[in-house]
Amino acid sequence: MAGAGLTAAVATTLVLGGARSGAAADSKQASVSVELPASANDRIYGGPGTAGRPIVVIDAGHGGTDPGAVSVSGQVSEKQLTLALATELRDLLVKRGRVRVAMTRADDRYLSLEDRAAVARRLNAGLFVSLHMDSAPNPLARGATVYSLSDVASDEEAARTAAAENRGSSAGADDGSARAMLSDLAMRDQMDDSASFATRLVGKSAGRFELRPEPHRFAAFHVLRRAATPAVLFEAGYISNADDEVLLRDPEHRKAVALALAQAIEADVATHARR
Ligand code: ZN
Repeated sequence: MAGAGLTAAVATTLVLGGARSGAAADSKQASVSVELPASANDRIYGGPGTAGRPIVVIDAGHGGTDPGAVSVSGQVSEKQLTLALATELRDLLVKRGRVRVAMTRADDRYLSLEDRAAVARRLNAGLFVSLHMDSAPNPLARGATVYSLSDVASDEEAARTAAAENRGSSAGADDGSARAMLSDLAMRDQMDDSASFATRLVGKSAGRFELRPEPHRFAAFHVLRRAATPAVLFEAGYISNADDEVLLRDPEHRKAVALALAQAIEADVATHARR
């Protein structure tokens, strides 16, 4: 399985030599492992002349000790494909120069859902896009889905997806405190804006790659709620489906997906110049 990895494994821990005060040189073996602060990644990517442009946070789902779903071939895991797509989308957006970009992770590291959402809040982002690869018991299920935030799931499957993604990274987000962050009015605005971005993304995707029937769905995703800005969770296709797996591992296919995402992001940001 590991042989087919897309990305080099990057250690999520730093090994520090002789940590304690005045440790003698011969105590080198007593090195300690320290978790990197997960929130380390507030780097903003932007081409020349983009200062002051809205910031879009791209969230590559899963990572580190949380691989997400494993593909039907067993050769690739969700965390690898989300990072590949996120990196390609970042590069495309930076090249096109209409927005600035941040990534919750740019390597293979574990982040809690709260860590991810906190990046959007700290940077006062205008948009938060969480990228995932779907998986289902039905091997024939395929196509992309866009989820936006709602208190009530649009359907049973959406509720199941949200439950799975909410479990994916140990949350640390409890709904009570999340609710208290935004007034009901602001929360409704966040949901409305998220839904309109989702509609736009479906529009840009249609005809370019396969979408599921009723591709825009709703559910209560912790990571979207906590982002406190318009946010969607995009499932790019099913890695539990053999055809979708081949497509999602193909950089040419991902290029089409990234272009749809980029165009939807730019159009959305342009209509919300205030952000
Ligand atoms: Zn996922």
